[in-house]
Amino acid sequence: MARLLEGKPVAEKIRQDIVKEIETLGKKPVLASVMVGDNSGAEAYVKSQKKIAEALGVEYQLHKLSSGTTEHALAEFIEKLNKDKSVNGIIIQMPLPQQIDYKLISQHIQPDKDIEGMHPANIGKVVFGKAKLIPCTAAAVMELLNAAEVELKGKEVVVVGHSEIVGKPLALLLLDKLATVTVCHIGTFEAKKLEEHVRKAEILIVAVGKAELIPGDWVKDGAVVIDVGINRVGDRVVGDIEHEGAFRHASIITPVPGGVGPLTVVMLMRNLVEAAKLQK
Ligand code: NAP
Repeated sequence: MARLLEGKPVAEKIRQDIVKEIETLGKKPVLASVMVGDNSGAEAYVKSQKKIAEALGVEYQLHKLSSGTTEHALAEFIEKLNKDKSVNGIIIQMPLPQQIDYKLISQHIQPDKDIEGMHPANIGKVVFGKAKLIPCTAAAVMELLNAAEVELKGKEVVVVGHSEIVGKPLALLLLDKLATVTVCHIGTFEAKKLEEHVRKAEILIVAVGKAELIPGDWVKDGAVVIDVGINRVGDRVVGDIEHEGAFRHASIITPVPGGVGPLTVVMLMRNLVEAAKLQK
């Protein structure tokens, strides 16, 4: 039977550290959030970001641009925020209208204001183990493992999912801790090799976005399991791992919801404070 690794207590401790750091900054950090179009998908994120920002003493500015905004106009708007010395961090809410390519537009954010850690300059620093602004979800997973005192050195870690925001940076962060990292993706799945890799994981981290893709019985006895996935199934929210079965085999497992989720937005705020310090 596993121990449930909940995100809230870990997030609470980091929140307290952030409040102290903000006091030493001597000024309220300012987060500029840019939303393009009537974006109901982003409303919930914006609400939770705003709530946490205010609780921590962060100024949250929401900039709403019309749905017809061109990539060029958005780039110019970001440039204005880059130049605005009062703004410490910039985020672009997803999804964006189809005329805007997130990968291109996110590169316009000045690296020291890129609090989602997605600018190539920041990702590059992750490769060198020198990053200050780390992609939030990947950072959240590392914080959970750290809080649970999970030894990473020499461990067989399997990451399922190789997205730019989660799987890829996470694999690099784990490598930096000398874990033996296997990254699985759609190619692994199509080659019917996912089960083989998952079964050998001493630490299993899944970030795919497919409800209960990993059957609980694939989880190795005693494994540490981090489920990043958030999937709506009817009126339930489930992860990428079949939780009940995995719970029987794992030694530690995160719940969905309530595992990685509560930490991600706190990581965003920690990056904001880090950004404000970099700009000093
Ligand atoms: P994403 O960009 O869609 O990436 C999904 C990854 O899974 C891709 O690498 C994809 O490979 C791979 N994949 C797809 N089907 C697969 C399969 N059958 N077997 C193995 N790999 C497969 O998603 P994301 O943004 O990384 O998010 C992943 C999940 O985490 C989502 O449920 C999202 O809601 C959740 N999430 C949670 C938090 C949080 O705070 N808890 C934060 C961010 C994301 P290809 O690209 O090659 O197809």
